[in-house]
Amino acid sequence: MAGAAVGAPDYDCIVIGGGHNGLVCAAYLARSGRSVLVLEAANQVGGAAVTREFAPGFKVSACAHLLHLMPGSMIRDLGLDSRGLQMAATGMPTTAIAPDQSPLPINPDNPAVLAGRSGADAAAFPAYHARLRRLAEALHPVLDRVPPRLGTDSWQARLSWLRIGWRIRRLGRRDMRELLRIGGMCVQDLLDEHFETPLLKGALGFDAVLGTRAGPRSPGSVFPLLYRMAAEVQGGSALAQPVGGLGALSDALARAVLAAGGAIRTATVVRRILVQNDRAAGVVLESGEQISAANVISNADPKTTFLQLLGVEYLDTGFVRRIAHLRAHGVTAKLHLALNRLPQFTGLPHSALIGRLLLAPSLDYIERAFNHAKYREFSSQPIIEITVPTASDASLAPAGGHVLSAVVQYAPYELAAGWQHERARFADLIIDALERCAPGLRASVESAELLTPPDIERQFRISGGHWHHAELALDQFFIVRPVPGASQYRTPLGGLYLCGAGCHPGGGVMGIAGRNAARALIREAA
Ligand SMILES: Cc1cc2nc3c(=O)[nH]c(=O)nc-3n(C[C@H](O)[C@H](O)[C@H](O)COP(=O)(O)OP(=O)(O)OC[C@H]3O[C@@H](n4cnc5c(N)ncnc54)[C@H](O)[C@@H]3O)c2cc1C
Repeated sequence: MAGAAVGAPDYDCIVIGGGHNGLVCAAYLARSGRSVLVLEAANQVGGAAVTREFAPGFKVSACAHLLHLMPGSMIRDLGLDSRGLQMAATGMPTTAIAPDQSPLPINPDNPAVLAGRSGADAAAFPAYHARLRRLAEALHPVLDRVPPRLGTDSWQARLSWLRIGWRIRRLGRRDMRELLRIGGMCVQDLLDEHFETPLLKGALGFDAVLGTRAGPRSPGSVFPLLYRMAAEVQGGSALAQPVGGLGALSDALARAVLAAGGAIRTATVVRRILVQNDRAAGVVLESGEQISAANVISNADPKTTFLQLLGVEYLDTGFVRRIAHLRAHGVTAKLHLALNRLPQFTGLPHSALIGRLLLAPSLDYIERAFNHAKYREFSSQPIIEITVPTASDASLAPAGGHVLSAVVQYAPYELAAGWQHERARFADLIIDALERCAPGLRASVESAELLTPPDIERQFRISGGHWHHAELALDQFFIVRPVPGASQYRTPLGGLYLCGAGCHPGGGVMGIAGRNAARALIREAA
């Protein structure tokens, strides 16, 4: 047994980690009347949703750079608008780019722009999108709930299953059959059924594989696409960029925690979770300080929580094996460029620069990029999601300067040649790929920062540097996420809960895992 907490605990709840999910969880718990303390290792709150200076005067949303998944109800509930959250850009357009082709706006509401490439695709796009959106809408209530438990006859579990079944039943015969047919399919097969334009298929396939260790031919790759769309249904589906970057969202969440009576300590690393009488009883900090609590909620990823902070001695071997085998090696890197002028992408209007650009010219291109990751190599021609946040928010760079923020795949965590030897070559190769679409870009680069998955692991304390804290796939989803025995936010140890991206419904700046975890704890205490 670790150190003992005697008498009344210092807090009702300690949240380990002030990532956005930890903050959301803390805000809801504090609003329920509980005393709450958030302990964040970094100097600032937000985890992978922060704004940092990466070159003198140049700031960027390190890791997450687009906001589109957080439910409007949560933003309203927590009063984030009145706590400093403002948008620099909303409804940001998506444009597919390629070195040898003119840019293609991807907009199902305006398929006419596609007609010049393919009349058939222009005709098919709205119906394809509408159907996927209907399927996603049926899935969306699944995201927002604590997953029901298997093997229990409780009315809550029965009601949950009934609700899910009813939403799917309401789809009607044709859509229900389509959901069953495509749910486990690879996204290449789905897109080949509907479209012929490689640039369009590449852009649509990109969203299916973003953040995951999968290519468009990987079985089950339709699932993350539907899942992302289901989350977007709650978030209003519009890509947005807060003024001041994603860190502004996290700062607003922190203010919501404080306004509800919670407390936050940054630069405070938790070393161990305290256990007393077979329950979580508080934490021990790196400094040696002990803080007791009736409940401990971890925003850290599942491997960190169980294998480092708790310790295997408190868990049965089957559970430890499941956590150890959880697939959580990231493949996503981030490149930040400080530029001395606005980048000029060939043929791209300025209005498109305010949105996101996707460099993934075809499904074959993506699959080839993914092939490297299977052999622990980085892609020689990576796929890239590009934003230029300064196109809509001048506060992020000195006068005349601009920032380019690029999410890049595939960059495997466990690079065979070792990242310390290869990082400069990879950064160079990404800039080359960008230069082919935006001639002159390289000459305008003042400074560059590359975050590889091991950098993300180290700087953001995420095992494997994984976008979702653990791969989001059919075998690590919903009632088996992160693993059986911890999929309702409760863990095998009484008083210990999870609230981060490693739980249902996964990563992305959504806040739902945090809100669901708070609900699970409040419900259990009732
Ligand atoms: C390169 C990249 C790009 C991305 N882009 C997007 C995007 O554009 N849009 C989007 O929606 N999502 C994006 N994501 C995903 C998204 O950023 C994450 O899924 C999400 O931010 C995870 O939030 P979280 O609160 O669950 O965990 P985290 O943000 O990881 O927060 C966990 C917190 O716990 C803290 N912590 C861990 N251990 C301890 C300890 N021992 N003591 C104290 N504190 C501790 C960490 O410091 C951290 O602050 C991206 C991810 C990556 C990697």
